[in-house]
Amino acid sequence: MSENNQPKNSNNNHVSSQLSFQSDGAPYCLRFNDIYFDSNSGYQQSSDIFITANNIFQRFLTAKKTITIAETGFGTGLNFLLTLQAYQNATEQAEHALGEVHFISVEKYPLTKAQLSQSLSILPQLSALTELLVSQYPSGDASQFGESFHAEFFNGKVKLTILFDDASTALENLYQAKVKNSKSFAGLIDIWYLDGFSPAKNPDMWSDELFQAIANLSKEQATLTTFTVAGFVKRKLQSVGFRLEKVASQGKKKEILRAVFQPTPKSKGYQQRPIITKPQHVSIIGGGIASACLALALTKQGVKVTVYCKDDAIAQGGSSNAIGALYPLLHQSADDISLFYQQAFWHAKDLYNSVYQQGYEFDHNWCGLLEVSYKQALISRQQAFEQLNAWPSELIHSVNVAQASKVANVSLEHGGLFMPNAGWAAPQQLVQQIFLAATQSGRLKVKTNTHITKITKVSDKQKTSWLLDSNKGELKASVLVICGGAEALTLEHSKALPLSATRGQVTSMQTNSKIDSLSTVICHKGYLTPENKGIHCIGATFDKNNTSTLASPEDDKYNLAMLSKCLPNLANNIAWQESDIHGSKARLRCMSQDHLPVVGPMPDIQAHIETYPHLAKDKNWRYQEAAPTIDNLYVMLGLGARGLCSAPLAADILSADICNNPYPVDSKMLFNLSPNRFVIRDIIKRKIAIT
Ligand code: SAM
Repeated sequence: MSENNQPKNSNNNHVSSQLSFQSDGAPYCLRFNDIYFDSNSGYQQSSDIFITANNIFQRFLTAKKTITIAETGFGTGLNFLLTLQAYQNATEQAEHALGEVHFISVEKYPLTKAQLSQSLSILPQLSALTELLVSQYPSGDASQFGESFHAEFFNGKVKLTILFDDASTALENLYQAKVKNSKSFAGLIDIWYLDGFSPAKNPDMWSDELFQAIANLSKEQATLTTFTVAGFVKRKLQSVGFRLEKVASQGKKKEILRAVFQPTPKSKGYQQRPIITKPQHVSIIGGGIASACLALALTKQGVKVTVYCKDDAIAQGGSSNAIGALYPLLHQSADDISLFYQQAFWHAKDLYNSVYQQGYEFDHNWCGLLEVSYKQALISRQQAFEQLNAWPSELIHSVNVAQASKVANVSLEHGGLFMPNAGWAAPQQLVQQIFLAATQSGRLKVKTNTHITKITKVSDKQKTSWLLDSNKGELKASVLVICGGAEALTLEHSKALPLSATRGQVTSMQTNSKIDSLSTVICHKGYLTPENKGIHCIGATFDKNNTSTLASPEDDKYNLAMLSKCLPNLANNIAWQESDIHGSKARLRCMSQDHLPVVGPMPDIQAHIETYPHLAKDKNWRYQEAAPTIDNLYVMLGLGARGLCSAPLAADILSADICNNPYPVDSKMLFNLSPNRFVIRDIIKRKIAIT
């Protein structure tokens, strides 16, 4: 595992056929002139590289099916024991029985039982588990081990198979056996530990055949980690369908490699996204939550970012409301929309919490959110949630009237669906703080009062770039992202997407003694937030045919009336008058047709129609050309009223597009968010005339 370690004090080595021990007890391989692991840092380093970087503990906790891990080079079994230890810890923490784990390792030069035992004896942290392994490990001379070895641990919950062969041969044989037995083989391995001595010392193992066998056996989204960041390893992994990122490590190796198997879907060319060389600089149009999250994601990747905001300060559009609810859009069954929003919700919570913990503070309270079942259709919906039981209770669960009143800390007449981890944040502060966090990187410039009115493609032989017309004159961009919400829909290119602006007015109300104790966000047809700085927000109107951002008294009345209509007793009790209105704000939401954001490369719509006419005849037509997109132009639009929830995940997807990193979602979800999904669906449904 170590690339540069030489035997220390080699005169004192106790040499066996291939293995010797250094004076500190570290096992050393004479064949490859390298240590198996370092006596001081090996335990921690292997934990970082293989256990932490593959998120093993969490995956054990949440897996619904058997997890299959494969490793190149069993060696002393250290990585296996660390995996066993993670399983043991997860079992202790879990409130449910964990799924099974199958650990498959390949080893060309196996250690004997005595060698293995002596090697591991310097790791007292693993002594109990070492005993479990050693007691089952084959005895005798390694040349008599046969083709493979199988052992079981923790009552068969963890299974170990060691294939005694060359890595690429063993993995290729495994693949052939699997393919033979399954007509629709969709991969076997969830997690790879790419160990083995360094490519410099053991070039034979790191062969083309090995990388191909790894790809053949990988499930989509399989993760792979390795200690080496050698250029040719990266290129080979990429060439067989992995997307890569470097991950910081605390051990001797400061950087390690993490890869995710996300091959481009060749059978559905329209799902392919362009691969670009990671740019040095990206320009973003827009100054709200989408832009802030993207600026942060890109600057973290080392990319310089310039943000153009048309207002005199950031967060003046949809992000300017005093209080915004953070919660996922969930249906009773785990459909595509709900799956996106539940992932986005946890992602958003993680980002906002980490920004806050780094000292970028903003008002918020994760006080939960209650969707009140105030009419029969909603009572039926609540019952459907109970029956289908598709979601964990920490995400959403049903509450009766008494429970609802308790979580809300006010008297309610209905039960509902409660999301205990949801809550509210002050969006304007949040956006400011995220921009501030990104600015600290030294890579972000925010240009306010800069209104981009037109973008023009400039193509020369080398590459495509963009000219931006603005009130500040002509600006240039090499890679451009349109993030500007509904206001960006005036740009010619975003007009090509089926997005619309919908006006929403939110009313801020003075608190009073009847409602100041409200302890959760309440959603009815509209919503009511708990008090922050003496103010509650109620809203919001939904006006498709109006793009005015001037607040209107009628809309304030509508918001108050909506509360009275849906929750009459509560509204009577609060007894808000129009004189209690503290302020109102009307802004535009950028809506997509299917309630999902629009994230990714800008499609060339006309070229799509010309490239995929056959989809009108057969929607399953295979082996198509890659999606025609407009070079170096990306969008992150259509976040609707849910930008607080969806922006962080959408930003990380776009950052992965631009920086060539692993996507945080699978290929199905990626296409559900893709800007070209509308034109593809229209071709399939024959809504577009194909000539
Ligand atoms: N994963 C091991 C552990 O936890 O102790 C350490 C692995 S050690 C750094 C590398 C291992 O790869 C050695 O055991 C070596 O024998 C094995 N190896 C080297 N070349 C190989 C090949 N072509 N096929 C299979 N195993 C190989």
